[in-house]
Amino acid sequence: MNTAVQDKKPAAQLLVQGYEVVIGFETHAQLSTQSKIFSRAPTAFGAEPNTQACAVDLALPGTLPVMNKGAVERAIEFGLAVGSHIAERSVFARKNYFYPDLPKGYQISQFEIPVVQGGAIEFYLENGKGTGSVLEKKSVRLVRAHLEEDAGKSLHEDFIGQTGIDLNRAGTPLLEIVTEPDMRGSSEAVAYAKELHKIVTWIGICDGNMQEGSFRCDANVSVRKPGAELGTRREIKNLNSFKNMQQAIDFEIRWQIEELEDGRAIQQATVLFNPDTGETRAMRTKEDAADYRYFPDPDLPPLMIGRDWVERVRAEMTELPRVMAQRFVADYGLSDYDATALTQSREVAAYFEAAAQACGQPKLVGNWIMGEISRRLNLAEADISACPITPAQLAQLVSRIQDGTISNNAARQVLDALWSEPQGTVDALIEAKGLKQINDSDALEKIVDAVLAANPKNVEQYRAGNTKALNALVGQIMKGSQGKANPQQVNALLLQKLA
Ligand code: ADP
Ligand code: MG
Repeated sequence: MNTAVQDKKPAAQLLVQGYEVVIGFETHAQLSTQSKIFSRAPTAFGAEPNTQACAVDLALPGTLPVMNKGAVERAIEFGLAVGSHIAERSVFARKNYFYPDLPKGYQISQFEIPVVQGGAIEFYLENGKGTGSVLEKKSVRLVRAHLEEDAGKSLHEDFIGQTGIDLNRAGTPLLEIVTEPDMRGSSEAVAYAKELHKIVTWIGICDGNMQEGSFRCDANVSVRKPGAELGTRREIKNLNSFKNMQQAIDFEIRWQIEELEDGRAIQQATVLFNPDTGETRAMRTKEDAADYRYFPDPDLPPLMIGRDWVERVRAEMTELPRVMAQRFVADYGLSDYDATALTQSREVAAYFEAAAQACGQPKLVGNWIMGEISRRLNLAEADISACPITPAQLAQLVSRIQDGTISNNAARQVLDALWSEPQGTVDALIEAKGLKQINDSDALEKIVDAVLAANPKNVEQYRAGNTKALNALVGQIMKGSQGKANPQQVNALLLQKLA
């Protein structure tokens, strides 16, 4: 008997050159309030420098911050969406540091007691591609999410040998969302960031515009030998696209492993990713919390959030993507994969539901949205809001496939016609283009008989056991009907005749 112990690796362990990757995220989501977190100045993006900074944002002496209720409400919504504890009492603190775009000399943030505590982001990782792929469920724990103000911006372009300061962004409300170091690779990290992005835009607390800096991710990356203590991390700052995120983390992992393999220790540092070179480079060594001399801001009382406020916010919240996906599985019989794809945004989900309810064919509607419609939108680099086909038109199209009026192929032609001429109706187009399938069995039988008579060789081959000969016959019949024969009917008839 063979009693050798099998060397079983834990399934989830993803090793790169014998190292385990560990990643934790800090994300700054700009909250979608009209005015700033502690002042009445507007937050709109793209204004002339220093036209949207008031006395409070400029840190003029004698000014006092006043909490923006809308920012707090958005933090509560986020906490409820990800299953966090909403602190009844949280505290604003001053984080002291000098930088030209921070005239106060400190940033108002939350330190010891943040407003949102714990919670988790759950998402699916796709192994393989397309409908046949396997979805693996992941959960990344959140440590906290706290409210803080953004700093201004230093402008280097347009200034030779000088730096400009724009304080429009000073005081813009941010929610900083911090994870446990729960991610084990760059794909997982990107999937986390995409899910977080989906949640904040879905509940509408952040516009999610990454180019404009409304959603900025810092990735803390370290590597270690399996089972060893956590390695020293380096923090990649301000990743502003998912593509850069993946590239930056992959580069950082390879760089750290090379350093360790060459016998050098990793120094904790803050690094920047350069998309032009695809490399990360150290910007500064990392400060410790002690360097910031945090202390409670004497200008702001503790933030008190009563249970009734939390419950009011909860009652008004929209259905969350994960909950909606579960409902799609239960109510419409969709697979987890399809339900996840169809809840990628609120707009896609609403489009799907409208079409599915109008024709009662959720599975087919889902396939058309994820297939033909997505493909056309991707080509145009557009999203569902730019889709020229209305949910009612898609429902009509799917009904005509379902009731046998047209084939899938003909339906694609109708879709093309509608795409460029959205005023048309499905039925009128089917009529005008002569796309109706031949469902009349007498007419079909005539074509089948004619094809069988004209192709005795194929018939003989089929009867001799060559099943491929059947395809040739089906092809001839479809051709004879100008593509209008119903393929299922053709098959059934043929088998019956050849039996
Ligand atoms: P700081 O307050 O100095 O920014 P934190 O302890 O709050 O440090 O951690 C910041 C982020 O770094 C968190 O997302 C955390 O999960 C992550 N992190 C901490 N240690 C590691 C590590 N060894 N490797 C990767 N990520 C880490
Ligand atoms: Mg931090």
